[in-house]
Amino acid sequence: MNYIIFDLEWNQCPYGKARENKKLPFEIIEIGAIKLNQDLAVVDSLHLLVRPKIYRSLHYRTREVVQMREADLYNKGIPFPEAARRFLSWAGGDSVFCTWGESDLTELQRNLKFYNMLRLLPGPVQFYDVQKLYAIAYDPERERRSLEYAIDSLLIEKHREFHSAFSDAWYTTAVMQRIDDKTIRENISIDVYQNPKKKTDEIYMVYADHSMFISREFPNKEALMQDSEIRAVHCCFCGKRAHRKIQWFSAAAKRSQCLAVCAAHGQLTGEVRIRHSDSGGVYGIKTIRAAQTEEEAELQERRRVLREKRRKKRQN
Ligand SMILES: [Zn+2]
Repeated sequence: MNYIIFDLEWNQCPYGKARENKKLPFEIIEIGAIKLNQDLAVVDSLHLLVRPKIYRSLHYRTREVVQMREADLYNKGIPFPEAARRFLSWAGGDSVFCTWGESDLTELQRNLKFYNMLRLLPGPVQFYDVQKLYAIAYDPERERRSLEYAIDSLLIEKHREFHSAFSDAWYTTAVMQRIDDKTIRENISIDVYQNPKKKTDEIYMVYADHSMFISREFPNKEALMQDSEIRAVHCCFCGKRAHRKIQWFSAAAKRSQCLAVCAAHGQLTGEVRIRHSDSGGVYGIKTIRAAQTEEEAELQERRRVLREKRRKKRQN
């Protein structure tokens, strides 16, 4: 098994959002990738420039951050379908992707879909989010930090510019090589750009301090939140059914919360984040974790305020 650490640079519509192609807001223009063996030693690397097709000139912000000139993209770049095929076949089937943050894998799939090539990367895709691994291994506040922040904090020499796909892939590799085995093993992520479509595709994951469930697709939020599987709360430590003490309530437009109690492990909080799929439906990502002290009171107060607001709205 190999680890494929990759980083992408992309361009967006230089004439603003109003004129962008809605199916491809971000067009990939560079792929940088490093192949590591299972001992995290570098065995190969790949660097591809992609000739722009949808947005022919660079957005000013892309120009600011990306270390390349447009002429290079046109002279040395290859069309995206060819670049994607080369990248995926170089990566090989028996490999796990690793990226800094979650967006590179999503944009890779969106670009593949645009060219009807998504079947080359069937999902949901399991991957390692090195930004998350770094937070777990090194950051007491568990925050999402920039790649440069991580490089500085780990005293890694900065011999390349940031924000080129190839050098960012190298820097991400340097961080990955400093993450311990156990943290890597216990924290695989799932990219849900290709979200579960039917019941048998639904995903359950158990981590050290929380569990996760990714539902199939529903026509709308109401139907999703009525589903017995999404409403059920099983303890993230022992798997037994927990008794709900504060029922699911809509805490925000795209978030529902609840509080439950496991006889053995105490109070748990449940959260469902509601996501829109590419095909127009919705699905839920449910997370169960141990409740913090005061969390029951906070949830109760939040629910009370929301109910009050809704009541006032109805009276007006
Ligand atoms: Zn339990």
